[in-house]
Amino acid sequence: MDLGLKGKTALVTGSTKGIGKAIAVELAKEGTNVIVNGRKLEVVQQVVAELKKKFPETTPQAAAYDLSQDAQRQKLFKAFPQVDILVNNMGIFKPMNYFDISEETWQKFIDVNFYSGNALAKFYLPKMLKDDFGRIIFIASEEAVMPSGEMPQYSLTKTMNLSLAKSLSKLTKGTHVTVNTIMPGSTLTEGVQQMLTDMYKNTELPETEWESDFMKHHRPLSQIQRLIRPEEVGRFTAFVDSPYSSSFSGEALRLDGGLVPTIF
Ligand code: NAD
Repeated sequence: MDLGLKGKTALVTGSTKGIGKAIAVELAKEGTNVIVNGRKLEVVQQVVAELKKKFPETTPQAAAYDLSQDAQRQKLFKAFPQVDILVNNMGIFKPMNYFDISEETWQKFIDVNFYSGNALAKFYLPKMLKDDFGRIIFIASEEAVMPSGEMPQYSLTKTMNLSLAKSLSKLTKGTHVTVNTIMPGSTLTEGVQQMLTDMYKNTELPETEWESDFMKHHRPLSQIQRLIRPEEVGRFTAFVDSPYSSSFSGEALRLDGGLVPTIF
C-alpha cells in the first residue's frame, strides 16, 4: 500500500537506533525525506548515509542536536524551520527504586522525555496549521497507562505525553493536522537485547529461550508472549503519519500485544 507520504519531510527525534531508527526506515521506504536526529554527528551521518543508499529517491538529512537543551533546539529550528511530520520518539528509561530517585533525576526525565517534545510541538504545530497538513506523534509506552512501579520517573513522563497530545489535538479542530500518541509495549531494541543478556548470561537457559522466559515471568499479561519488533512500531507509526490516517486525532494508540488489560 502506498501511504501517500512521498516527498513529505519528517523529523524523527532519537532516530539513530532502536524504535526511532525503525520509524525513520519505514518512513523513508514510503519516500519520505527523513531528518535523522541523535547527539553524535558521526552516528547521525552514518544513519543518513544508510538511508540514502537504501532509498536513493529520498533526501535524508542530519540533525545532530541534544534536544533536551534549549540552545540546541534553537539550532535545530534554524536549520529545519518546517516539517510535515514530527515524531517525538527520543526518550530515556531506567528501572529505579522510588526512594532512590533524586530531584535532579526527576527533572532530567521530564526534560528529555516530556519537555523536549513539547518545545518541538510548540514550534512546528503553528506552521502545520497554516499549511493545513501535519502529523505530530508522541512515542509513549504502555507505562503511560499502566505504570509497573519499576521506573516511576519514566512512567510519569509517558503519561505526560498522553495528556499533552490530547491537549494539542484540541488545537487542530477542523484541520488536516493530527496529534496522536502511540504506546508500544516492550520492544526488542539493542537496549532491551542488552537487558536480556545481562539478565540471563550467567544462567543455564539457552539464548533461544531468553525472550520467552522473560515474557512468561516479567510480562505475563502479554497476549502475544513475545517482544515487539522495532519494525512493527515503525510500520504502524508510518501508517499513522499517512494522509490516510486522518481520522486518528488525539488518540492514545496501543501497540502492546494485549499487555494492558482492558474489558474490550
Ligand atoms: P534507544 O535508547 O534504543 O534509542 C534512543 C534514541 O534517542 C537514540 O537514537 C539516542 O541517540 C537518542 N537520544 C537520547 N537522548 C537524546 C537527546 N537528548 N537528544 C537527541 N537524541 C537523544 O530507545 P528505544 O528503546 O528505541 O526507545 C525509543 C522510544 O520508545 C522512547 O521514547 C521509549 O520510551 C519508547 N519505548 C521503548 C520501548 C522499548 O521496549 N524499547 C517500549 C515502549 C516505549
